[in-house]
Order: sequence, then structure tokens, then C-alpha cells
Amino acid sequence: MKKKRGKISLYYSHDIRGYNRILRQKVREIKDIKLDSYKLSYKNGKFVFFRLASKDIKPEDPVLFINAGIHGEETAGPLTILNNLKNIFSYARKNKVKLIIYPLCNPSGFAKITRFNIDGDEGIFGNSDYLRYKMVDGTIKDDIRNNNNYKAWYWSTEITKKLPLETKMVIRLLKKEPLKQIKACLDIHQDYISNALPSAYHYSFGDLRVYKKIISKIKKIVLIYKDKPIDAGFGEIGEDGDRLDITEEVSISDKNGFVVRHDGTMADLFYRLGTSFCITTETMGSTPLKEAMAVNNIWIKGLIDLIASSKNNIK
Ligand SMILES: [Zn+2]
Repeated sequence: MKKKRGKISLYYSHDIRGYNRILRQKVREIKDIKLDSYKLSYKNGKFVFFRLASKDIKPEDPVLFINAGIHGEETAGPLTILNNLKNIFSYARKNKVKLIIYPLCNPSGFAKITRFNIDGDEGIFGNSDYLRYKMVDGTIKDDIRNNNNYKAWYWSTEITKKLPLETKMVIRLLKKEPLKQIKACLDIHQDYISNALPSAYHYSFGDLRVYKKIISKIKKIVLIYKDKPIDAGFGEIGEDGDRLDITEEVSISDKNGFVVRHDGTMADLFYRLGTSFCITTETMGSTPLKEAMAVNNIWIKGLIDLIASSKNNIK
């Protein structure tokens, strides 16, 4: 018997089957979207990895790449994309920007509400581990903070095989993407490690003044976590997820909440690939889901605006 399905106004569950079903349902309602799915076969279960993209990406089209949910407990990113899919695609279409989205990079972590995957595979440097630096003295590092004095960089897969399955999947797919056409990268996270009031901060590189409008819009939703030490994700984490001693130097966010840190994660990778706008957005774990999603949406639309306006400047 066919189940009657009502219109979904806001989906906010960790039920992976529900997420996948509703995503497929929403995709069917959008004309110019393409959905590819790939299998992630863990020791403890099989999951689906989705890739969403604008249908006809022509060689001259600028692209926004969005990546969400690599840390499984950070569900606001995957939910932002699910809940606003139609809106995101129509905004991009209106501005003649194409999209490539990996909406839920760590589906088993999402289902279990754990940072890492269902096998508990943390790799060597976590699962958000996409590039490595070779230093002048020959040592290989995953995180060089704001030091640019390195000799070469490599995709992490060129250096090690010890990467979680979802990380390998992301890299395998990324290598097939039109990377030169990607003009902006948005990696969506939440910070469940720093114990702070609802607020937002962001990792980026280069000229940070271009994000002025975006920051003023975010300020209307939540506080900016400014002039604060940011060490979430860099200190040692115990097996139960608790913080152990901070072993590394702490970065400080600037007056607009920006942190510049070459830490080998997604935005850093795209910065090295030459992408103009590279952002990792973080909302504090205490931020209500609706507000976290609103911040993520501001970034998505803001980056589409930036791509559209820089395209017009070139012409
Ligand atoms: Zn994260």
C-alpha cells in the first residue's frame, strides 16, 4: 500500500533512512539537478554517499562546491542542504552559478551521531584530512597553521592509505570534478568541542574583507565568536569525546570571527587548488538548529553572490 506523504516543511532527525528518502524526494522536484549515489561499505554497515550537482555544467560555468557532514555529529550542514535544496538551486540558477554538493559526507556518523564513522576509524588526523605538506626539512605535516614556508603539498591519498572510507570517497570524487571551475568552496561544520554560547566563526584565507556583507548578515542571527582562542578539533580528544590537554598552539579569531589556519581540511585544499573563496563555517554546538541553518544559508547565498559579482567584473 502506498503511504500518503505530507509536505515536509523542516526535517531535523538523525534517521539516515528518512534523510535519504526525503533527499531523493526533494531532488525529484527540481528540474536541473543530478543525483549520483555511491556505496560506502564499512565493516559494521553499508551506507550511501550522495553527490548532487547542477545538470549541465559547461566548461565556462563557475561552480560553488559545498561539502557537509564529514563530522557525523554536526548535523546542521546536511540538514541545511536537505531543508533548503530547492531554494539553493533556484538562487544559484538565478545567478548563473552551478553547484556541486556532497550533502552528507559521513552518513554512518550522522546515523550514530558520532564524529567518526561506524567503524570508529579516525585515520591518523581525523576524517577531514585532505592534504599534506612537505616541509623544507622533508617532514610531512597535516597542519602548518599560518606558516606558508612549505616545499610542496600533496593530496592525503598520495601520502597514506590510512584514511577513513568516507575521506577516500570524497577525494576519489573530487579528483573527477571540474576543479578549475570551482570558484568557491564551503565546508559546513559545527563546533561541539568549544563550550560557548550560540555564535559563529569561520576559517578562511586571503582577502577577508570581501566577506563583509556576509558577516553583517550573520551578526543579525547570532553573535560572532570574535577575538577568541580557537582550538576545537586541534587538541587531543579522548575516546569518550572529552577534551584532553591541548597539545598545540592556539589560533585566535579576528574581530569578524575569522581564523586563518592551513590545517589540511577542505577549505585549505581548495585554497591550494587556487579557488578564489574558501570557507569553513562553524556554528557553536549550542546554537539552535534553525539559527545554525540560517548562518549556513547566508554563506551559501553570499558565496553565490561573490562568484556572480566577480564573474561580472571580469567581463
Ligand atoms: Zn567539524
